[in-house]
Amino acid sequence: MEDLKVTGTLIWYYYICKREVWLMAHGIVADQDNQYIDLGRFIQEQSYQRDRKEISLGNIKLDVFRKEQGQIVIGEVKKSSKFIDSARMQLAYYLYELEQKGIKGSGVLMFPKEKKKEEVVLTDTVKVELDKVVRDILRIIYEPKPQPPEKISYCRNCGYNEFCWS
Ligand code: SF4
Repeated sequence: MEDLKVTGTLIWYYYICKREVWLMAHGIVADQDNQYIDLGRFIQEQSYQRDRKEISLGNIKLDVFRKEQGQIVIGEVKKSSKFIDSARMQLAYYLYELEQKGIKGSGVLMFPKEKKKEEVVLTDTVKVELDKVVRDILRIIYEPKPQPPEKISYCRNCGYNEFCWS
């Protein structure tokens, strides 16, 4: 079997749909025309351009907004705060990855449409939760097939909607 890896994106989906975690990890391509995804990209491109710099961490790119007292602040732009738990844990996961490479930082989630921001701090409790989630994601993605679909409100905007439900 190919080497399957946990990523920040999988952390995000873990809190939404575990079937989707499996589908993404196995490279099953979601519907790229999904308008909800496009809206997210558009907002990301239009907002917060001014302070922006990018750093690469393995295969992910993170937006670095500023440096404060020797620490970096990384940011993530989200289209809505509807899935804020997912967004918090995804950003915390990036902070954790950076910390393991010797870079301390904090995070800020931005919801430009709602004119809202939230700080994300990597506490010991969050690290314990992330360790647990990473183990569970590995368990999920090494299953031979995904769990059956379960109807949730996210399905409506999900790129796998047709795949799961037609
Ligand atoms: S359509 Fe629903 S069940 Fe299927 S992957 Fe998306 S969220 Fe999960």
